[in-house]
Amino acid sequence: MSRSDVDVVVVGAGFAGLYLLHELREHGFTSRVLETGDDVGGTWYWNRYPGARCDISTTDYQFTWDPELHDEWTWSEKHATQPEILRYAQHVARKHDLYSGIDFETRVTGAVWNEDSKKWTVTTSKGEHITCRHYVMATGCLSMPKEPDIPGTDRYQGPVHVTGRWPHEGVDFTGQRVAVIGTGSSGIQSIPLIAEQAAELVVFQRTPNFSVPALNGPRPEDRAARLKQDRATYEAEARLSTSGVPVVPSTTPALAVAPDTAREMMEAAWQRGELLALGATFMDVGISRTANEVVSEFVRSKIRSIVKDPATAELLSPRGYPFGTKRPCMDTNYYETFNLPHVRLVDLNSSPIRSITETGIDFGDESKEFDSIVYATGFDAMTGAIVAVDIQGRDGITLKEKWENGPLTYLGLTSVGFPNLFMITGPGSPSVLSNMMVSIEQHVDWIRDTLIAMRDGGFETIEPTPLAEEGWRAHCEDCASITLFQDTNSWYMGANVPGKPRVLFPYIGGVGRYRRICDEVMARGHLGFELSGAGGTRRNDGVVREIQPDVESVLEMMATLGLPPIEAMSPVEARAFSEASSAVRPPGPAVGEMVDGTLPGAAGPLEYRLYRPASSGPHPVVVYFHGGGWVFGSHVSDDPLCRDLCAQADVAIVSVNYRHAPEDRFPAAALDGYAALRWVAANAASLGLDPTRIAVAGWSAGGNVAAVAAQMARDNGGPELCGQLLLTPVTDGSRQHQSHTDNAEGYILTKSLMEWFWNHYADPADRSNPLASPLLATDLSGLPPAMVVTAQYDPLRDEGDAYAEAMRRAGVLVEHLRAKGHTHTSITMVDMLPSGVPPRRAMAAALRRFFG
Ligand SMILES: Cc1cc2nc3c(=O)[nH]c(=O)nc-3n(C[C@H](O)[C@H](O)[C@H](O)COP(=O)(O)OP(=O)(O)OC[C@H]3O[C@@H](n4cnc5c(N)ncnc54)[C@H](O)[C@@H]3O)c2cc1C
Repeated sequence: MSRSDVDVVVVGAGFAGLYLLHELREHGFTSRVLETGDDVGGTWYWNRYPGARCDISTTDYQFTWDPELHDEWTWSEKHATQPEILRYAQHVARKHDLYSGIDFETRVTGAVWNEDSKKWTVTTSKGEHITCRHYVMATGCLSMPKEPDIPGTDRYQGPVHVTGRWPHEGVDFTGQRVAVIGTGSSGIQSIPLIAEQAAELVVFQRTPNFSVPALNGPRPEDRAARLKQDRATYEAEARLSTSGVPVVPSTTPALAVAPDTAREMMEAAWQRGELLALGATFMDVGISRTANEVVSEFVRSKIRSIVKDPATAELLSPRGYPFGTKRPCMDTNYYETFNLPHVRLVDLNSSPIRSITETGIDFGDESKEFDSIVYATGFDAMTGAIVAVDIQGRDGITLKEKWENGPLTYLGLTSVGFPNLFMITGPGSPSVLSNMMVSIEQHVDWIRDTLIAMRDGGFETIEPTPLAEEGWRAHCEDCASITLFQDTNSWYMGANVPGKPRVLFPYIGGVGRYRRICDEVMARGHLGFELSGAGGTRRNDGVVREIQPDVESVLEMMATLGLPPIEAMSPVEARAFSEASSAVRPPGPAVGEMVDGTLPGAAGPLEYRLYRPASSGPHPVVVYFHGGGWVFGSHVSDDPLCRDLCAQADVAIVSVNYRHAPEDRFPAAALDGYAALRWVAANAASLGLDPTRIAVAGWSAGGNVAAVAAQMARDNGGPELCGQLLLTPVTDGSRQHQSHTDNAEGYILTKSLMEWFWNHYADPADRSNPLASPLLATDLSGLPPAMVVTAQYDPLRDEGDAYAEAMRRAGVLVEHLRAKGHTHTSITMVDMLPSGVPPRRAMAAALRRFFG
C-alpha cells in the first residue's frame, strides 16, 4: 500500500485508536494511525502523576472485543494504577501487532477536505501530507491539558509539573515545599502521595469536589463472579446500562425513605468504594435538587467526620452545586491528608493567587516560597484536542469556527460540512459520562460497520444532514434540561476554560439509550445521512429522536409491564384499573386547602373538589374537567395536575365529577359541564372566590367538556369567561385525522382506545354535533381567550391543532403550545416527568394572564 494515500487516517493511539486500527485491518481497510506520544496508551501514557488510577473498576474498565484478553490478563486491583493500565494497552498492541500500524512522535496539525477528490489531506508535524478517504479523530476527551490561567506562570524558576504531562522518570518531592494548584480528580489522587514525601504541602483550592473513597483492593467479588459466570450477559447489560457499568438503577426516590434508612443506604453505597454507587442510591439524585441535597449533605457529613479542623472541613465541603454535576472523584486518604501537620489548604475564593513569582506564589496577603509547583488544573475537555487540529471541511470552514458557539454534531460522531470525518467519543455522545471503554468500543464498531456499508453500497462520502444534526442538538438539550447539570460551572459545561461556550458537552441520555439510537440510525439505512458515490446520492433525511427522554423511559417501563389494553376491559374494570394507577403516583404540590362538596348538575348532584391556594383570596376560579375519555376519572382523578395549576397559577380550581358513559351517554357530560360552570359562577362569592374572574380548563375528554362549556356559555347568556385552557383536548369525533394514524400505537392513548371511548360516549350520528365535537361549531368567534396545548405523540394532536387554528381564524386570542416530544398523558404526570414542567409552567402563566 502507498503510505501517503490510505483508506483511513486515525489520529491517536489510545484505547480508541488501538481498537479501531485492529478493526480496520480485520476488514481490509488500509490505514495510518498517527500519535504525538512515543508509545500507545493515550491517557495512561501521559498521566503518570502519583496516584493516577482508573476510577471505574477493572471488571468494567477493559476491552471486551478480544475475549482471550480476559484469560491472559489479570488485573491486580479493583482500581488499577496508571502503570498497570499502560502495560495492558502495550500488551494489547503487541499481541495484535498494532505497533506496526502506528507512527509515533507524529502530531497531526491539519486536515483539509478536497471536494474534487472526495478525500482528506492530513498534515503532520513531520511535514508529511497523507490523503485518505476517511479521517477519524481518536484524540481523546481528556488529552489536552488546560493551560493554567494564573498570572505569572512563566516567572517561576523552579520545577513545574503538570499532572496530564508528568515526567516519565517520576518526581521525588522528598523534603520539598510543594504547591499543588487544583483539586479535581488528578489533584485529589495525587495530593495524598505528594504529602507523603513533601516537607510542606500547600493545596490551592478554587472549588471543593465531592470525593468518595476508592477502598482499593481486590476486584469486587460479586461483580467478578458474575463476569466469570456469564460474561456475555454481563457485557450486554453494561452496554445497555446508563453509564456503561451494569448497575441496576434505583427505583427509590430519596425522600420516599425515612432519613435513617436513607443514611443506611448511602453508607452501604459509600462502603462499596465504587464511583457510581452513591449517586445510584436513589432514582432522583440527578434530577431533583432536594433529592440531591440528601446525598450532598451525606458526603459533607463524611468530610466533617474525617477532617479534624472544622474550618478546613467546611472549606473542603462542596456547596452551591449538586452532587454529580461536576465529575465526582475517588480518593485514597484525600480528606485524611488535611489532618497532617505539614499540609495546608488555601481557599482561592478568600485568598486568590495574585501572581506566581520567581520563587513561589503570592496569594491573599501572603508570599510563600516553594521548591516545586504542581498544576492539577484539568483539561480542555471533549473538544480541546479536536479543534487543536486545523480541520477544514467543505467550503474551507474550520471545525473550530463552526463550533464557536458550542459543538454541533450528529450523534457525537459526525458533523455537517465535514464529510467522512468521524470522532470517537465526540461531543454529543456519552463519552465522559460513561465507562469509556464501553463507549469507545461502541463508536469503533459503529464506524467500522458504516465504512463496510459504504464500501458494499459503492458510496464514497457520508455526511449528516442539517435537519438530523439540529434534531440531535435538540435531543441532547432535551436530555440535559431535565437534569441538574446545566446550572453547574463544570468542565462538562466548558466552564473551566475561559471563552469556551457553555453547553453540556457530553450526551446525558445514557449509554443504553444512546446505543439503541445509533443502532436505529444504522438499521434505518443511516437515517439522517447523505451518502454519495459513483452510483448516485442517497439522502435519508430525518430526526432520529424527538420524544422527550423521560417520556420515552416511562413508555419503555410500561412496555415491560405487559399491561392489558384498556379497551379489552369493561368500563367497570377500566375504572378500577385507572384508580389503582392513580393511587401510586406522586400527589403533587401542597395547596392551601382542598374541600370536597356537591353541586347541582344537569340531572342531579355532582361531586366536586375545590383547591384553594395558600395565599389570601378571593381568588379567581378555574372550573376544571378531568380526563378519562368520558368513561372513567372523577373530581379527584387529576389531583396532581389540579394542585400544580392551583399552586403555580395562584388560582382556585373547582374540579367537577361530571356524569360518565356508557351509563350516561352524550350529551350528559357536556350538559353537566355547563351546569357546573353556571353553578360555580353563581356561588363563587359564597365560596370565597372572585365571581368576576372565571375560566374553564380540562384535559383530554375534559378538554372537550371545557371547550363545549365555553361555547355554551357564549351562546346561552354566560357566565362570561376570562379564558379556556385546553390540554390535549378531544375536539372532533367525526373523522380520522393524520395523527390518529401517526400515533396510533405505543403512546398510551391509542387509536383503538380512543374509538372505545367514543363508542361508549356517543353514537356516530351524534359525533358531528358541536356539543360532542366543538371543532365543528359553525361559529367560533366570540369565545374567550384560549390556551391550547397539543402533544407531538398524541393521536389527538391534529384535532387539537385544528381547534386552535380555527379559533384563531375566528378572531379568538389563542396561545397554542405544541409540546415537542410529549404524549397525550405525559404533561399531566406531575413530579414524575421533569420534561412536563415547562409546558405546565406555560399553562399556569396562561391562567394568570387570563385573570390579568
Ligand atoms: C487521569 C484520568 C483517569 C481516567 N480514568 C477513567 C476511568 O476510570 N474510567 C473511564 O471510563 N475513563 C477514564 N478516563 C478517561 C480516559 O481518557 C478514557 O477512559 C480513555 O483512556 C480514552 O481513550 P482514547 O483513546 O479515546 O483517548 P486518549 O487515551 O486520550 O488517547 C488520545 C491520544 O490521541 C493523541 N493525540 C491527540 N491529538 C493528537 C494529534 N493532533 N496528533 C496526534 N496524536 C494526537 C494523544 O497523544 C493521545 O495519546 C480517565 C482520564 C484521565 C485523564
